[in-house]
Amino acid sequence: MGERPRTCAACQRVLAAHEVYFRFSLVLEGEQDVLDAPDEADGGHGDALAELVQRLEAGPEDADELEAQVHWERSGVACSECRAVAVRMLTPASENAGPH
Ligand SMILES: [Zn+2]
Repeated sequence: MGERPRTCAACQRVLAAHEVYFRFSLVLEGEQDVLDAPDEADGGHGDALAELVQRLEAGPEDADELEAQVHWERSGVACSECRAVAVRMLTPASENAGPH
């Protein structure tokens, strides 16, 4: 009944007690810039997020899933490998082009 083993939230690997790990919290918020597109007068997929929110209010059965699309957040720990992947993924290429 000791402490629960720490696992990487990304790769599910159990982290050794002595291992360096990285605490993270990530929030993904659905946003959409309003586009004035008079060319697409018949709506189309113009306001996808508004539609999503509308469905969220209308249909409570899959509300959790829909809400997760608008607001998704996780926090936990990641191993150093997954940290490296995440940093690479979220760093614009221009910033990666540092001196080697
Ligand atoms: Zn990992």
